[in-house]
Amino acid sequence: MALLEPNPCMTCGACCASFRVSFYWGETDAAPGGLVPAHLTEAIAPHHVAMLGTNQAKPHCIALQGEVGQCVSCNIYSLRSSTCHEFTASWEDGKHNPTCDRARANYGLLPLDERVPSIGAADKFVASA
Ligand code: SF4
Ligand code: SF4
Repeated sequence: MALLEPNPCMTCGACCASFRVSFYWGETDAAPGGLVPAHLTEAIAPHHVAMLGTNQAKPHCIALQGEVGQCVSCNIYSLRSSTCHEFTASWEDGKHNPTCDRARANYGLLPLDERVPSIGAADKFVASA
């Protein structure tokens, strides 16, 4: 069943354009074994960096492509930080994520539905956009 459901994140992207996305600098490719392209980050503390575009009043990650709430993708998906990797859509794996709800609300998107995790909110947004 899950294979037939669209991934709600692909029509959302709100979390990538709502919060500062920070992580340990050692996750960047400036460090041995790091993956996140360092030129897409900025230092925010001696040992921490943030994705460019997210350390500002109206965050929008530099790696986010597309229109929030319609169709989005991450330019560095396979290289993204642990912060991004660990941020899950609400009810993915059966767990509520209130921060996902809050990000979506920033863009007029309804929270994902526990019973139908991928349909209601995204479709409603597209219909009303
Ligand atoms: S706010 Fe939630 S649904 Fe939207 S992209 Fe982020 S995790 Fe996915
Ligand atoms: S790196 Fe990708 S997943 Fe992470 S905030 Fe930016 S666009 Fe979103």
